Amino acid sequence: MAKRTPIFRPCPNCGEEYKYKLSSGKIYEICEVCRADPCEVCGEKKPKERVRFKTCSEACQTIKKRARWNIEYINRIQADPDLNKRQYEKTKKSEEKVQKRRVYDRARSLSRRTNTEYLTKERERQSKRYAEQKEDIRIQREERLNAMTPAEKLELENRDRTKRAEWWAKNKERMYELRKQKEQEKRHNMSEEQLAEYLKNRREQGRINAAKRRQQRRLREMMGDINKVLEKAQNDK
Ligand SMILES: [Zn+2]
Ligand SMILES: [Zn+2]
Repeated sequence: MAKRTPIFRPCPNCGEEYKYKLSSGKIYEICEVCRADPCEVCGEKKPKERVRFKTCSEACQTIKKRARWNIEYINRIQADPDLNKRQYEKTKKSEEKVQKRRVYDRARSLSRRTNTEYLTKERERQSKRYAEQKEDIRIQREERLNAMTPAEKLELENRDRTKRAEWWAKNKERMYELRKQKEQEKRHNMSEEQLAEYLKNRREQGRINAAKRRQQRRLREMMGDINKVLEKAQNDK
């Protein structure tokens, strides 16, 4: 059986070359462009690359889509005449809600900024949170320290002390200034008796702190000595 090859010829209508006889044997008298239905929107002939579409161009396609939406919309309105009204009410309500919320938020943040009771509570909450965090850090540090040998412990403590000293050297001026300001504010609000009492307590606290520092220094020196003894014992072994 001879192979049925597709055959090309110029279209009798437009003169363009086209496949008039397919391998199946089917024959078309005119080209696919001339065969195609005109654009549904504008009625023009569709270009070759759009013969499979119902419209001649993107523009006509958009018009068609919009028309379809409009028809759907009209159908929905006909089925449910209150649709528009309801949707409008819905949008309005949600907008009102947002607006109300915004007004409420603004009023709340304003009142908070001026509400001393709230501010005090918030400060308390924050310092509680901070204290809890600090406590957690302290416990972690303690656990780490407990797992160390005396030599490691001493080394860590020395390192921490160096770090603290460096920080202090860098921030000394600023911290003194801050402390002075706080001190002034505190004293500013005191009566004379309160001030006298306060100064007495401060002196007392100062003595306690100095004693603590002395004790710590002695302890450090002792730990250093113990460490030397331990090292010596280790080397003598
Ligand atoms: Zn043609
Ligand atoms: Zn068109």
